[in-house]
This record gives sequence, C-alpha cells and structure tokens, in this order.
Amino acid sequence: MVSVSDALRLVREGALSLGVVETDLAGALGRALARDVVAPADVPPFVTSAMDGAAVRVADIRGASEDRAVRLRVAGTVFAGPGDLPRVDPGTAVKVMTGGRIPPGGDAVVPLELYRADGDGLVFTRSAAPGENIRPAALDARAGEVVFTAGERVTSAHIGVLASLGLAHVTVGRAPRVAVLATGAELVPAGMPLLPGMIVNSNGPALVAAVREAGGEPIDLGIAGDDAGAIEAALASAADADVVLTTGGVSVGERDLVKDVLRSVGVDLVFDAVAQQPGKPLSFGRAPNGGGTRAYFGLPGNPSSALVCFEMHVRPLLRLLAGFRDVERPHAFGRFPGGFKKRPGRAMFVRVNATATESGYDLSPSGSQSSGLLAPMARGRRLAYVPAEVSEHGPGDAVKFWFLDAD
Ligand code: AMP
Ligand code: MG
Repeated sequence: MVSVSDALRLVREGALSLGVVETDLAGALGRALARDVVAPADVPPFVTSAMDGAAVRVADIRGASEDRAVRLRVAGTVFAGPGDLPRVDPGTAVKVMTGGRIPPGGDAVVPLELYRADGDGLVFTRSAAPGENIRPAALDARAGEVVFTAGERVTSAHIGVLASLGLAHVTVGRAPRVAVLATGAELVPAGMPLLPGMIVNSNGPALVAAVREAGGEPIDLGIAGDDAGAIEAALASAADADVVLTTGGVSVGERDLVKDVLRSVGVDLVFDAVAQQPGKPLSFGRAPNGGGTRAYFGLPGNPSSALVCFEMHVRPLLRLLAGFRDVERPHAFGRFPGGFKKRPGRAMFVRVNATATESGYDLSPSGSQSSGLLAPMARGRRLAYVPAEVSEHGPGDAVKFWFLDAD
C-alpha cells in the first residue's frame, strides 16, 4: 500500500503532454494553450474614444466653469468605423461616439452629459485633462507582446481576446483518449429491466462524463462481466486509448479479476492499494503503447470510491497529458466548526459542503461518507482532505479542500 502523496507522484512520474493540435477558436474552449500567444499587431491599432462625447483641445476649455462657459463650434461627427476624420482646429469640437477614432488635434473627450448643445456649437462649463476618455492605441496588446502563456486553459474571455488579436486558429494540447470499462456481473445499462441481484451501471456514465469534464475524449467500452476473457476482449477494443479506466473487480473478492487481467495484457502494476478512504483498492500501472506508454487505472467499484479516485488520481494525469499547467482543481482551506474525527492510518477524502463566512469557509460533511453513496458528492461538490496520521481535527484546524466544479 502506498501513501496518497506517493500515489500522486507515481502516477505523474514521467508523464508528458500528448502533443498538439491546431483548432479554430470555437474548438479551443476548455483546452490548454500549447504555445505562448504573441500579439501579431497593436490592438486596437488606433486611438479611440471611450465615451460618447466631443473631442476638444484641452487648451480651448481650460478654466471653463458655470460662470465662464466656453462655446466651441461643431466641426463634424465621428462614428465608430471607417470614414474621413475632420480636424479639431482651435475653437472647434468634433462629436465622437464610443469606439470612434480621435480626430487630429483633439486631446481629450468630454462626455456628452457634461456639455450642452447651442445651435451649431457646444457649450462647456468644465475643463478637461489631457487624454481624458481617450483609449490609447495598443491598450489591449502591443505587437510582439506575450498575451497568454502555454498551459493556460482557454475560457470564453480568452477566445474573445484571441479573436480581437485577429487570430482565427490556435494550437492546443491534444485531448487524451480515455477508455472506460465497467466490470461486474451484476451490472446492467440504465433503462434495462433489472433481474434480482442486478444494479444499474452508474460508474460507467459518471466516469465518461468526468473524462469529458476533465478535457479528455471518452471511449465508452460499456460493461464486462466478472470474466477474465470478457474484460480482456473489452480492453483490446480500445487500441487507441491513451489511458484506460476500469471500475470494479480490484478488491480481494473471489471474482475480483481486473488486476490479473491487467497483468496478463502486459501492464506493469505500480501500486494496487492506496492508504486512503474511500478508494483504498485503487490500482495503477503502465504498459507500452506504440512509442509511448498507456496508463491503466483499476478504480474500485463503489461509486464514491470510483469518483474520488478519478478526481484525486486520474484527473491530474489527464490534465497533464492535455498540456494544462494547473493539473489540480482549485483549492482553499476551511474548518470543521463541529470538529472531525476518523481513525488514523488512512487519509480521508471527505465529501463536504463549504459555506463561505466572513472568517473563511465552514466545512460540513454533505451526507453519509459510505463509499457506496454518490449523492453526497453530487450535493456538496467540495472534497476535503484529512491526512492519514490525523485522527481528530479541532474546530480551529485548517483543512484543505478542493472545488470539484471549478477548473
Ligand atoms: P467491486 O469493487 O467490484 O467489489 O464492487 C464494489 C461495489 O460497487 C459493489 O457493491 C458493486 O455492486 C458496486 N459497483 C461495482 N461496479 C459498479 C458500477 N459500475 N456502477 C455502480 N455500482 C458498481
Ligand atoms: Mg465486482
């Protein structure tokens, strides 16, 4: 049995990102940038108005006040978009809309709420500072500037910035292909009638979704019974998988055959138990795959064991393979106001609710911690970590927890 920290290290050891693909911007959402993004040109390329108002010469309205109003003749109007630009000559103002180019001669924009129209002129009762309400050229990015760095996750805001840079394509990490096989003679796909003793395969769909959530490409291998030949045949059908996940059959029961099958197909098992709860029977190994290696996880069958193992051990590897810089979910520290007790010896991943208070996060278990129960994990969406050696947390002790719905 290995410790949680050793398991985390062993799984990531030697793992490299899978290479890159080029995609249009829509296809980049949620992927990892494979290279730094450098601005090809200044954005925006010209000086613009930040307000609907009037471009003026600051000197013309210096000292303007209610008592000393200054009237400037309107020399034209500039809208956002192409077109000729009038000049702001001394004694004149040019109306300019947000996003319109600043006409030559103008060195400030006065918002339209701050002046009034008067025939063919505008009356100003306040002065303006040079550059006021003017957006400089290259405010968003200067040509040659590194705007984003490799490994960043592409969000909708990234896509907006990439588009504003004039980029229609971007290079991202290739998504890992992840085969998912549920094993167990008792399993039936959802929607099928259940004979006595049978249950619905819930781990399969949950893991397929978890793979997708993590940025992987799931390959759903369905269900294999507790039969070495059937498990082996199912695994053989995932020849192009980068990672293989099985659930069930990794414990010490008489029909727990997965580890034997993994060994028989050439997997070198790195560990087959982790000092954690839930998920102690987690098995992990590697086998040669073309020029590289393929990772295999034998996840336990209990639903919250399978999903906790995915979150803590599988997901970071998938993120690494996909090229993400941050492979862990975001975390914070909180406290159990009522304290927390467990037996020492195994680390515990507690499915919790985290309530934000003025003095930090209050944690409380989001339901029964039975490894057979998945609903508390669905409800809380936070996973707290109590280290192996700890048997009791007092109400003041800081406890690390992860946000399971954040990237
Ligand atoms: P095992 O790890 O095969 O000993 O299974 C442990 C428990 O998890 C048993 O109660 C199984 O019925 C249950 N289980 C195994 N696989 C699944 C699955 N794919 N979906 C839901 N429950 C499962
Ligand atoms: Mg089983």
